Amino acid sequence: VKAIGKPERSVVTTCAYCGVGCTFRAEMRGNQLVRMVPWKDGKANRGHSCVKGRFAWGYANHADRITRPMIRDAITQPWREVSWDEAISFTANRLNAIKAQYGARALGGITSSRCTNEEAFLVQKLVRGGFGSNNVDTCARVCHSPTGYGLSRAFGTSAGTQDFDSVEDSDVILIIGANPTDGHPVFASRMKKRIRQGAKLIVIDPRRIDMVRSAHIAADHHLALQPGTNVAVLTALAHVIVTEGLADEAFIRERCDWDEYQDWARFVSDARHSPETLEPVTRVPAAELRAAARLFATGGPGWPSGQRKRPNGAIYYGLGVTEHSQGSSTVMAIANLAMVTGNIGRRGVGVNPLRGQNNVQGSCDMGSFPHELSGYRHISDAATRALFEADWGVTLDSEPGLRIPNMLDAAVDGTFRAIYIQGEDILQSDPNTHHVAAGLAAMDCVIVHDLFLNETANYAHVFLPGSTFLEKTGTFTNAERRIQMVRRVMDPANGYEDWEVTQLLANAMDLGWNYTHASEIMDEIARLTPTFAGVSHARLDAEGGLQWPVNEAAPDGSPIMHVDGFVRGRGKFMVTEYIPTDERTGPRYPLLLTTGRVLSQYNVGAQTRRTENSVWHGEDVLEIHPTDAENRGLKSGDWVRLASRAGETTLRTLVTDRVAPGVVYTTFHHPDTQANVVTTENSDWATNCPEYKVTAVQVTPSNGP
Ligand code: SF4
Repeated sequence: VKAIGKPERSVVTTCAYCGVGCTFRAEMRGNQLVRMVPWKDGKANRGHSCVKGRFAWGYANHADRITRPMIRDAITQPWREVSWDEAISFTANRLNAIKAQYGARALGGITSSRCTNEEAFLVQKLVRGGFGSNNVDTCARVCHSPTGYGLSRAFGTSAGTQDFDSVEDSDVILIIGANPTDGHPVFASRMKKRIRQGAKLIVIDPRRIDMVRSAHIAADHHLALQPGTNVAVLTALAHVIVTEGLADEAFIRERCDWDEYQDWARFVSDARHSPETLEPVTRVPAAELRAAARLFATGGPGWPSGQRKRPNGAIYYGLGVTEHSQGSSTVMAIANLAMVTGNIGRRGVGVNPLRGQNNVQGSCDMGSFPHELSGYRHISDAATRALFEADWGVTLDSEPGLRIPNMLDAAVDGTFRAIYIQGEDILQSDPNTHHVAAGLAAMDCVIVHDLFLNETANYAHVFLPGSTFLEKTGTFTNAERRIQMVRRVMDPANGYEDWEVTQLLANAMDLGWNYTHASEIMDEIARLTPTFAGVSHARLDAEGGLQWPVNEAAPDGSPIMHVDGFVRGRGKFMVTEYIPTDERTGPRYPLLLTTGRVLSQYNVGAQTRRTENSVWHGEDVLEIHPTDAENRGLKSGDWVRLASRAGETTLRTLVTDRVAPGVVYTTFHHPDTQANVVTTENSDWATNCPEYKVTAVQVTPSNGP
């Protein structure tokens, strides 16, 4: 502030990093941001923030920003800076030519969980209405697609059940496969506050994360499971609850399908699912697991408290649940656990996916999946298609399109030829980097719409410069389904907001769009999406955020879902058989690698690595247990070669007992490391979400890169 001078004006906007959705007052002097102050009236953050959000503007003016469009005929040629007109007509001509030669299904697009709802909606509209295919997917494919699948099957809607405030009434908090302190810091503080007030805490994680033991809290139980055994642990927890008579049968009879419950209860009661039988698989001591199950179902010794017979149990989870070959099964098993204990439909309970990116929820809501239009309505439904066709004046393909990995496979096979990628670096963030590169290299037209020349842009023919969240107007939807305004704080460095660029391209393909402001896109979303029927920018401005569904039945929004009944009618118990991952350790690859993030960095680091205040996490390191380190003659700081069946990389070690023997851990923030070079091609059986969290590896000393 001293260097730039006093602020002249301020604009309230929403953080573009994690799914907490903190709001800030961006203080400006001219077109220069002076500082970001957490907004005291922010409904998700109440005046708090973390280090990432506080300094989230650092990258906006970074010298690496590309602000002029670039094109090239072939990826072997150098880039040529051109005008917007030339870039857009070059792109449209290429897309039209590919469509004419290979058909509409040879084209597709990827929306971004980093961009606004309005932008995601327009990208899928361009792909469906302009390209003519349903080959649209979102980067949520590689993170929370199993959440969408699992929760929609169990409850009828693809979203978390609670608002953040709900945690204030939780008696037992169960965290599985999430590290809130690093991933969702502001909400982690609220959880810790509740735990300090007396709520019990169960953590299920292969690593001793901060929530297990930190300055002011300690978990009652830490189930340090073997990576890849979530379903086995959750089934064993259910086994204890059912066989010890701790199920909430009154809730189940009233709210769930009783016959399905009985089938499921018979399944989990089988002796093969007892904690003792499964202990060799999960590596969780049976007595500890039994105690955790009893605590979650009963509140532990001393309960009941006050008037309530049962404690409020809330489950929070992250990518340690979804990024597995059994990701969708794990989400369903979590839903089973919530229903069997009656923990749905009121404050303090629920199933709460913690979304890693700011707008994972929103990008999924906006019809970014190849089988669904906005509001999770299947593309094969003729009435839904007719609604969109009448509004858009196009004919929609009734067949679901390709997911990201299938687009890449089809590219290698020669049937998929062009892709528009907005705000996503798939070469760095998707699994099996070599396969991604092969798919991109095989295409005739790769369009990257982003802030920086990322790794994917090495394979692009068109680079369309993107705008930062500070340069655009629109909305993000956070992990509690709260739709909040993103407001333009400064002029776009490239001259356009991202939705305007998509519109330029659409109109070059003769689609005749005429939006003059992002609010008009939201009006269209509301018109076509029942869960957003009551949403408008004007209302969001006036009310500071709304939690969907917002419609005639819930005019003020829905902080808590499934209150009087599940969206699907009766809650659905589903049998989730534990099936071990194909990824196995052996003499050559004896350790299991799992991955995560650190507080100061964000995903592949494109923004945070270009933000001065975040550089204190300067590199990815490999955490290794002292026993495994000693066996290899390693000490902290040594270079190692990390190799799997898929590839290898080099990084430094940190010797720590935060990880168990046999398990190693690293982050994926730095392109020098490219942790995804070693991850496998395994993916979730239902959604293709990659199995980032389990890779058999070998660790050997190295002299460095
Ligand atoms: Fe809030 Fe998440 Fe942004 Fe941090 S990164 S300020 S917790 S929204």
